[in-house]
Amino acid sequence: MKRIFAAFLLLLGLAGCAGQQASYTTDFFAMDTFMSVSVYGDKQDDAEQTAVACEQAVNALEPALSRTREDGDLYRLNHAGGAVCEVSEDTYAAIEAAVQYAELTGGAFDPTMAPLTDLWGINTDNAHVPAQAEIDEALTHVGYQNIKLLGNNQVQLENGAQLDLGGIGKGFATDAVSALLAQQPEGAATGALVQLGGNIGAFGDNPSRDGGNWVVGVADPDNNAEFVATVEVRDASVVTSGDYERYFEQDGKRYHHIFDPETGYPADTGLRSVTVIDQNSTRADAMTTALFVMGLDDGLAFCKENNIAAVFITADKQIYPSDAVASACTYTFLGEEKGYTDAQ
Ligand code: ADP
Ligand code: MG
Repeated sequence: MKRIFAAFLLLLGLAGCAGQQASYTTDFFAMDTFMSVSVYGDKQDDAEQTAVACEQAVNALEPALSRTREDGDLYRLNHAGGAVCEVSEDTYAAIEAAVQYAELTGGAFDPTMAPLTDLWGINTDNAHVPAQAEIDEALTHVGYQNIKLLGNNQVQLENGAQLDLGGIGKGFATDAVSALLAQQPEGAATGALVQLGGNIGAFGDNPSRDGGNWVVGVADPDNNAEFVATVEVRDASVVTSGDYERYFEQDGKRYHHIFDPETGYPADTGLRSVTVIDQNSTRADAMTTALFVMGLDDGLAFCKENNIAAVFITADKQIYPSDAVASACTYTFLGEEKGYTDAQ
């Protein structure tokens, strides 16, 4: 709960007023997190209808992307015992994207982590460190190579693999909202701010800044109600993955929800969070997870090679923006008072 309220505070430049613009905000719970969509436009009715349509678009994706919804495609696929399954277009597109990013990141992002997430009981009352033998067994089913995309929305999971699209779900939903906003008639949505958990989409004109850009805070991992940097963007998504989002503690050690597919343990690379700025929110979402697994050095090298705008925050309070940050947004370091160093 804490992280959700905190995240709302990170959106700057929204000082309650939207100038002369009509605006409508809808707050809702979906994909296991709090969400908020604000639409600004010329007419109140249009802003309201557009915001509600965005909420509906996110809710409609839930059965396509959730692996716990028993009426959903992903659940059916995961319980098909390895048989070929026909899934919805959305599910197929999301799996395709997930496989693409798994390949791009050499498996640091891997959408078949479900057996490990289950084993560790992240987000359940039974969160605990499993026995090594259990981790080893779960790892034998992990590997995006077990996903067979057969075309025509047909998918097969080999080797007891189970899909978990939690690493890109909110990004995929943000992209769906972005597409919907783009289809609105002139003036219906002149600007919009979409917050799906840690995924933020900032589109069009920001009425609180006279139609200017949107300013999004990069959270302080020690206190995510505060921020240590800001990024100014337009028509872009800002996505953060951190070890402070979902975790449990055992024997004084923190175990979070981003797993290293090689070890079966929460990625332990000395990073606290990674934020990615990208027009494509699905990609940003996959990249934050993957870069977190890669760690700082490999992550920065990967960003250089693939032109990815990312801000890394390390456990020793260094903040590293990748080279591409300068062209993707206006980045401002603000963490000095909180003991952070700008390692740019
Ligand atoms: P969040 O969804 O909480 O903002 P992420 O986007 O980083 O955070 O996704 C983490 C989720 O992705 C986990 O809860 C789990 O479902 C799944 N996951 C964990 N490790 C990986 C990984 N290495 N690759 C892909 N998905 C992962
Ligand atoms: Mg992610």
